Parts: sequence; structure tokens; C-alpha cells
Amino acid sequence: MAKEKVVNGDSARKRPTPKPEPAQKDSAEPHSDPVRPPTRDLRPRNFDEYIGQRAVVNALDIAVQAARGRAEPIDHVLFHGPPGLGKTTLAHIIARELNSELTHTSGPALERPADVVGLLSNLKEGYVLFIDEIHRLSSAVEEYLYSAMEDFRVDFVTGSGAFAKTISLPLDRFTLAGSTTRAGMLSAPLRERFGLVYHLDYYSRTELAQVVVRSAGILGITVDLDAANEIAARARGTPRIANRLLRRVRDYAEVESGGTATLQVARDALELEGVDRVGLDRLDRLYLRTLAHNYNGGPAGIEALAATVNEEQQTLTDVVEPFLLKIGFIVRTPGGRKATQTGMEHAGAPYADDPEKSQQRLL
Ligand code: ADP
Repeated sequence: MAKEKVVNGDSARKRPTPKPEPAQKDSAEPHSDPVRPPTRDLRPRNFDEYIGQRAVVNALDIAVQAARGRAEPIDHVLFHGPPGLGKTTLAHIIARELNSELTHTSGPALERPADVVGLLSNLKEGYVLFIDEIHRLSSAVEEYLYSAMEDFRVDFVTGSGAFAKTISLPLDRFTLAGSTTRAGMLSAPLRERFGLVYHLDYYSRTELAQVVVRSAGILGITVDLDAANEIAARARGTPRIANRLLRRVRDYAEVESGGTATLQVARDALELEGVDRVGLDRLDRLYLRTLAHNYNGGPAGIEALAATVNEEQQTLTDVVEPFLLKIGFIVRTPGGRKATQTGMEHAGAPYADDPEKSQQRLL
């Protein structure tokens, strides 16, 4: 059974070691099982429970089965795509399917080479080292990973000057699972060392409705099919958001309507939550309104937009923009971000193809 360790680099060394999460129960457990762990973990535990992303799941399933047949670890695997789409979940499933253990850390937590050397030397044969936000590794740390991934050893220098000595530390054959929202920011040498590279895309509304129904079953919530579809429609193609919205609908249903989530309850709850009919939340709408009204639809630079909406640039590029691009509300041009006609209409702003015309309208 897969177990998980969470490692946070420096901070983990100063504080007492965090208790490992209780081992999850067998993946064959049905959703309605009343003895499900009290944490009500919504993460799918095996490939069968994992909804959508069929091409990725099928390819991974083959790789896992082949590795199991050869009694070898699976090749290093990289997942990229927007947050909340199930990258971490897949890494957990791999470890579980290989009956192995997963150690969870993140790029920013591995500040110094010593952090990563310590982690690597504790991995046993077949263990999975999961590094979230792998694009944020420092280059010094990244270099240690090259030989670790390729030759299963790390070389490090002890002492200095005339006393400097290179020590080569052999490692057990492990699997590195990397996750990133910014594949383009990974250095080529690191990217090339992953044998399996998968992009996760946004989920369809039908798939998200399945996620909602599955999660409702685990959480013990009664949700009408219409309500599940409504939540799915507003979940921005993202299972994590679908689960969050489901919890808000549950709260609302418990307080306002005796516990059952009907279509009307879901609509009222999501309206209260500030999530509109296409799934935009307050920040998305603020971004779109700013681009549409303050910048007359653009083009506008990301720095200027970030300063105007008073939000971090990275939040806009990683969280807000991918979905607006996906649904065609904005486009990226060499001059900056531009709102499309549908984007302008959604923001309640007049749209003009010809920028001069719209400029005149403003005057
Ligand atoms: P990421 O690592 O891409 O940010 P996670 O793997 O943490 O995303 O997924 C976020 C949450 O969404 C998980 O806890 C899980 O409950 C849910 N989830 C993700 N993918 C799926 C899926 N394919 N089927 C069902 N639930 C999913």
C-alpha cells in the first residue's frame, strides 16, 4: 500500500518531522463504504477511480503494468497543466499501483543541494519522489537531479581548497514525478530526463459532473443530477474547483433547504459564492473588466494588469488567464493581452474590431 511522506526542505528540518498521513485504505473500497477515513479524502486512489484524461491514464497504466512485470521502477514522469487538474493525484496513484511509497515535496522547499541529497539518499528501490512546482527548483539543486535521474547517483564535494574531495553516493533506483503549471520554464536538460511527459487538459462538463457525483457520494451529500451539472458548468474545467463548489452547495443546502442540493439550491449557493454562469469568480471578472474597461479591451501588458487589479502576476498567468484563454474570452498578442468579442460582451463592454473606432467611442 502506498504511503506518503511530506517533506518541506528547511522548515521540515527545524520543526519536528510531520506525522505521515494515515495510509489510505485499499483502493477497491466502494465510495459508499461507511467506514471511509474521517478525512473524507476525495482523491481517486487508482486509475479506475480517476475520471477523464483517458489518453494519459491509458498510457500511464501501460507503463505501470510493464514496470510491474519487469519488477522495475517506472520511468521518471512529468505532468504539466493548470492547477487542480489531478497531477498530484496521478503521482499518488502511480505509487499506489506499484505498491510503493511516495515522498511529497516542492521546488521552492528544496532550497539547498543538501536538501535534495538528503531526500534522494532516503529513497528506496521503486519509491516515488514527487516534486510539485518543479519549475521553481534552484539551478544548484537541479544539477544534482541530473545524475540522480540518469545514473542513480549524486556527486558532491566535501571540504575546500586542497582538502576538497568528490564523493559519489549511489542511490536506489527511484522514480521522479514532477509537476508544473509552467512546462516552458523547465530547463531543457531537466525536461529531457523525463521518459514520460503528459499534459493534463481541462475537463469536460460531463466529466466534472461525474467528479461531483463521485465526491457527493464520499461526502454523503444528496445532489440532484441537474445540480451536479450546474456545479460542473461553473467549475472552470477543474476537479478541485468542482469539489470546492460542491462543499459550498452542501453548506447552503444544509442551512437553507434541509440538506438536498437541488438545481435552484446549487444556483443560489454559487451566486452567493460569486461564481457566475460560466464559472468566473471575482478575480477572473475583475481581470476581465479591467482589461475591457480600463484598457479598452487591450492589448495590455501583464505587469500593468497585475498592478491595476492588485494581484500577483503569477496568479494571473497561472490561474486566471489559462481558463480565460481556453474559453476564448482573451487572446495573447505580441502587444499584450486582448479581450475578444465574447470577453468584452461578458464584461459588459462595447466591442469594436477597429481600435480607432473604440477609441473614438471613449472620447
Ligand atoms: P494538481 O496536482 O493538478 O493541482 P490535484 O491532483 O491536487 O491537482 O487534484 C485536486 C483535487 O481534485 C484532488 O484532491 C481530487 O479530489 C480532485 N481530482 C483531480 N483529478 C481528478 C479526477 N480525474 N477524478 C476525480 N477527482 C479528481
